[in-house]
Amino acid sequence: ENVLIIGNGGRDYSLFSAFAKLPEVKNVFCASGKRKWEHPKYRLCPFSNVDDIARYASDNQIGLVVAGPELPIAQGIQSACAKYNIPVLAPSLACAALESSKIICKEIIQAAGIKTAAAQIVTWNDLKNLLHNYLEINDTTQFNLPCVLKYDGLAAGKGVFVLFTKEDVHNALVAIDQNLPDWEKLSAQVKTDTYSKQKKSPCFLIEETLKGEEISAIALCNGNEFRLLPMARDYKRRNDGQTGANTGGMGSVSPVCLSEKIMGQIKTTFEKTLNELSKRNTPYRGFLFAGFMVDEKQEAWLLEYNCRLGDPETQVLLPGLQRDFYTELFNTAKGNSFSLSNKSGDEFNHDKLKRIFLVAASPEYPEKSAPRRELINNNLQQSSCEFIPTAIEPDSTTIGGRAFGLLASSSSFTQAQKNIYCAIENYYLKNSDESLSKPHFRTDIGKEFCETSQE
Ligand code: ATP
Repeated sequence: ENVLIIGNGGRDYSLFSAFAKLPEVKNVFCASGKRKWEHPKYRLCPFSNVDDIARYASDNQIGLVVAGPELPIAQGIQSACAKYNIPVLAPSLACAALESSKIICKEIIQAAGIKTAAAQIVTWNDLKNLLHNYLEINDTTQFNLPCVLKYDGLAAGKGVFVLFTKEDVHNALVAIDQNLPDWEKLSAQVKTDTYSKQKKSPCFLIEETLKGEEISAIALCNGNEFRLLPMARDYKRRNDGQTGANTGGMGSVSPVCLSEKIMGQIKTTFEKTLNELSKRNTPYRGFLFAGFMVDEKQEAWLLEYNCRLGDPETQVLLPGLQRDFYTELFNTAKGNSFSLSNKSGDEFNHDKLKRIFLVAASPEYPEKSAPRRELINNNLQQSSCEFIPTAIEPDSTTIGGRAFGLLASSSSFTQAQKNIYCAIENYYLKNSDESLSKPHFRTDIGKEFCETSQE
């Protein structure tokens, strides 16, 4: 069997590497742009447009296409592959709106009766006025803190602002003004379908702020049925102790054990969503990622849906999954039901090892773009962690924000953490004047799980 993976980030490398390990997979074709990964099974698919990729898949006897990032999903990779009868693991364009429009997502999850933060829709012009009035004349009649601002469309993880202070409001205004043209360009590349609305101007959500601990739950969905991957945690903020700017994720940990009560709520959320989508004649097939906030009363609130595997959660999840995962994955992509041996809602088998993934970023991340630097590893013998390239070019240089990551697997979180923080000390980024910079990384990934009952 040949497999084709779309994407060139850390998650997509992990997908590539997981499929390359399967004995029945002959070649793994990667639509990975300019990045190439060293491996005997690696083959480059030289296209990025979904129609070209589907045609290429058909010409190269591909038995499964898996889309990593959101854009090819929101551009219709599912229907493009369906035209050539290629099994594809990606939801339809209609379902992709759960991620490509936060407004549509809110409407669907509210209609399904799922617990989520209250939100109000505003245009960018109205929002600008509300924020200016708040900052300049302290007008709190229509806008007050704390709250969360969310750009409706795709924004590569940069369109959400959690606001507590006037300074946060000011910074968000500046950042939105700067980035909005890019977000609008990205949104213009998204294809529209059943749930897409006529948008006249950029829209935002003003959302109530939730407090608690975040959990990432990913399900492989097949119409009305789903199976869960182990629970994971993503560390979204740039700095230790969940402070600093929101990022694409600075690290991840799995498996996270949750109480029966919370697991029940998570399963109900998936059930209700799949029922709602089936009822609307748009059944969901593919990975569905749910971001939850669990409050102090042990209630799980749904923050968002993504229509794909998460990055950096995938890096800690895939290596521990077993055969049953791949069987169901091929079943789903071929449009077949799950095997009969498990019930909907059951977790996939997992090797139970504790995994920590640490992201190493350029020091400028996420505020500014980074200059080109060479990645230096001072200890090539070091092997207790797996190196995951995120934005490393074939010549070992990077201009990426999140440049690379390290994955540690161990029987305890404490040991995994020790291994990872020891290994990261060997890596430097060489500047154009030959000086060395340390990559930026958080020093507390997995801390709350070490030396606890989760060990
Ligand atoms: P992703 O990169 O995961 O796709 P996104 O930009 O689509 O992110 P969200 O996941 O909705 O956006 O929000 C990003 C982060 O902002 C969340 O992980 C959470 O930390 C914070 N956040 C979002 N909504 C809320 C809320 N209502 N209350 C508190 N924090 C929130």
